[in-house]
Amino acid sequence: MATILVIDDSRLVAHVAKNILTKKGHEVLLASDGAEGLELAKSKMPDLILLDLIMPGDLDGYAVCEKVKAKGADTEDIPVIMLTSKAESADKVRGLEAGASDYVTKPFDEGELVARVNTHLRLKELYEKLQEKNRQLQELANRDGLTGLFNHRYFQQALAKDFQRAVRYHEPLSCVLLDIDFFKKFNDTYGHQIGDVVLSTLGGIIEGSLRETDMAARYGGEEFALVLYHTAEDAAYMVAERLRQRVESHEFKAESLNLKVTISVGVSTFPHKDIPDHKTLVECADKALYKAKEQGRNQVVRFQHGMEN
Ligand code: GH3
Ligand code: MG
Ligand code: MG
Repeated sequence: MATILVIDDSRLVAHVAKNILTKKGHEVLLASDGAEGLELAKSKMPDLILLDLIMPGDLDGYAVCEKVKAKGADTEDIPVIMLTSKAESADKVRGLEAGASDYVTKPFDEGELVARVNTHLRLKELYEKLQEKNRQLQELANRDGLTGLFNHRYFQQALAKDFQRAVRYHEPLSCVLLDIDFFKKFNDTYGHQIGDVVLSTLGGIIEGSLRETDMAARYGGEEFALVLYHTAEDAAYMVAERLRQRVESHEFKAESLNLKVTISVGVSTFPHKDIPDHKTLVECADKALYKAKEQGRNQVVRFQHGMEN
């Protein structure tokens, strides 16, 4: 069952259409002029609109059609079928140009009206499914296959935008980079597959330790990156330290083994005089991470002016 809006100043035409479509199980809304029709289209978001082209008042059918189908309007994807009388043939072109999908001539042939309505309802449904599939594909394209976290490419794109916003609104923004300690040796000892289990489990631990709004990504092989919004350095340090402890105390289970790993973590925060852009924010977190490795691993280090790697 679909919701269909019929916009026609002729009560007779409107009621004939309503009878035909109601019999087919659809819910039918009626509007008797353009303004009322546009209002109902916006508030009820029908699945399809049957629209008389010639109507009195400021808004004729063409104007309604243009507004309903305007780029960016909420109603943009609602199919519009024009109602024309046989004599108005030239107007059909104008209606199609205004964004209508099809037309039905009056007086209605019942079978034709139902068939055209069903065709366009079906097309709309297919279009929505396609859009949903596209959303899913887009989502997959942004994700890392092993951990389900965002991938490097998405992380860079999102961070670039987030950084601009932080600059504009003078909000603090922190970046946390973490890397598993001695993971090469771990792989050499237990094998790559068990290494993968650890990576994916670690992804879950990271995800679980973030606020909804924060962003976590697999930055590289065994390296992860977080962006903490509205988060100044001390708070970011605490998040990082809590995560480090969580990883240290976690028993990673793989093939009946209980395994331990540790991570080293670097933290950088905007605003900072050394950090003019998002790339530098990540580079500074990387410098701090390098320092954490150098100082013995399994620790969190904040970026400081003068740190080099
Ligand atoms: P460090 O403490 O200095 O970080 O030492 P490390 O051994 O962790 O660092 P290194 O960069 O030398 O080695 C990283 C290792 O991470 C090598 C590679 O086998 C492993 N690795 C990277 N990506 C994957 C992956 O997708 N799966 C598995 N199992 N291992 C990976
Ligand atoms: Mg490592
Ligand atoms: Mg590494």
